[in-house]
Amino acid sequence: RASDQKVIATGKSQIFENPSSSQDDTRYFVDILFPIKDSNGEVYATSGWSIDITDRIKTENILKQAKENAEAANKAKSKFLANMSHELRTPMNAILGFSQLLLRDPNLKPDHAHNLNIINRSGEHLLALINDVLEMSKIEAGRISINEKDFNLHALINDLEMMFKVRTDAKNLSLHFYNNDDLPKYIFSDEGKLRQILINLLGNAVKFTDEGGVTLKVDVKNKSNDIVNLIFNIDDTGPGIDKNDIEKIFDYFEQSSQQSKYYEGTGLGLAISRQYARLMAGDISVASQVGKGSTFSLSLNIKISKQSEIHSSENHKLVKCIKGRKDFRVLVADDRETNRELLVKMLSPIGGNVREVTNGEEAIEAFKIWNPHLILMDMVMPKIDGIEAIKQIRTLPGGKYTAIIAVTASVLDDQAELVLQYGANDFVRKPFRENELFDKIARHCKIDFEYISTTTKPDSIETEPDSGKIAEEILQLSNDIKNKIRNAAINGYNKKLLEIIETVSGTNPGLADFLRSLTQKYKYRDIINAINEKGKDG
Ligand code: ADP
Repeated sequence: RASDQKVIATGKSQIFENPSSSQDDTRYFVDILFPIKDSNGEVYATSGWSIDITDRIKTENILKQAKENAEAANKAKSKFLANMSHELRTPMNAILGFSQLLLRDPNLKPDHAHNLNIINRSGEHLLALINDVLEMSKIEAGRISINEKDFNLHALINDLEMMFKVRTDAKNLSLHFYNNDDLPKYIFSDEGKLRQILINLLGNAVKFTDEGGVTLKVDVKNKSNDIVNLIFNIDDTGPGIDKNDIEKIFDYFEQSSQQSKYYEGTGLGLAISRQYARLMAGDISVASQVGKGSTFSLSLNIKISKQSEIHSSENHKLVKCIKGRKDFRVLVADDRETNRELLVKMLSPIGGNVREVTNGEEAIEAFKIWNPHLILMDMVMPKIDGIEAIKQIRTLPGGKYTAIIAVTASVLDDQAELVLQYGANDFVRKPFRENELFDKIARHCKIDFEYISTTTKPDSIETEPDSGKIAEEILQLSNDIKNKIRNAAINGYNKKLLEIIETVSGTNPGLADFLRSLTQKYKYRDIINAINEKGKDG
């Protein structure tokens, strides 16, 4: 070895590098040396050997480089997804926003309202999908958070039942949802994540089951005044999972050996669901027997909402006018015309004092001349972006007193929070809900709106049935028909129910309409209750 070898690692063994070589020729050695001592214990020589570990070191370097490349690619992917989210969420804002606007129209015909509601619901669904894809990238980047709010758990479960009934009907499977009577109606939790976990578990159960059926049972445990342990058990009569695969299926991109060949899937659903559950201080477990079926259990400790605190977004309330504040000036800054138009129309109850600008520079100019009470500021704009415009406005005379609400399409919580640091009073995420926007305006501008509560929620646009008349018509039914209806509803036979209802539509058209509408919404329990309550002698 050359005499100018340099020790680059010390210890029991030493790695030597020959510095005179070019990079590619560098060779690495481990030297193992033993002292040779004389009879007095003095070391007079060393003996040992060298092992050439060049291949190992080079392989390690290659792996290190590959890891760095993968991390860079991952970052690029997250950035791409964040940008895509902006691009996808912005048009969604227009779709959802304008359909909400149309729903305001008191002269809206019921069938138009019904169609609009479908657009709205599909839009919401699409938005949820976009968000899910983003959620995945956020998990990978370790940037995931919980968004808790009060919501109606019963409505969520009913929605899922309706949604999955279509799928189980198509596969000729039974679907049963059993709720414990004690199940709290309003809870404080992350609705989106809970929905996604349940959709995933129910979706798998239906996907892998070809005979028999699926049930969802919610157990309520340790209920106190404000907290409850909910266990959602999703049972299926599918193929079951081999015990060697049980833990594996919760890993990313893992599927059990027997099913992956036959069924579509990515192997991501359970991994994401478990991450969500754990983030919500819960977990998912599974018990399964090959050939018999599987039970996936989601256990969560959840806060129960106080009824009085529910700020119900279900009751879509409409702003009629602004109370006690004339000449309230609002500036809307957004480079996209549809977004501006949407905001201007949404704000129309405020009166004619809404002005529009298309970038941050114009926003600053408009502020100087017009001194608005409120600015709704888009974040991504040409010339001067939203953040820079907010910063500059805050330094202008009177700039501290204007309420500024940032309008952002970013789904990343930390980015949205960042705008607060730059001086915005608050932010709304696109697509924003009308109520949320007005609530924030009211809070930051210290103004009151007069609300008219609305029945334009499309589901309730359908004329309310006259319950007295319905009861009368149910009493007119023969016991045989009542039993048939009851049985079909208990078994969830949708088609059969509709057939039976047709047989009474000539004599009891009001009742037929009422039952048909419940059947179409898969509200079997309501049908059974109606028949049992109102036709007691049957
Ligand atoms: P995907 O369903 O997209 O493959 P998941 O992460 O949701 O991904 O599920 C991972 C794997 O776990 C599935 O591919 C399947 O092999 C197995 N699995 C999940 N749920 C069930 C079930 N109810 N019955 C049988 N196997 C299941």
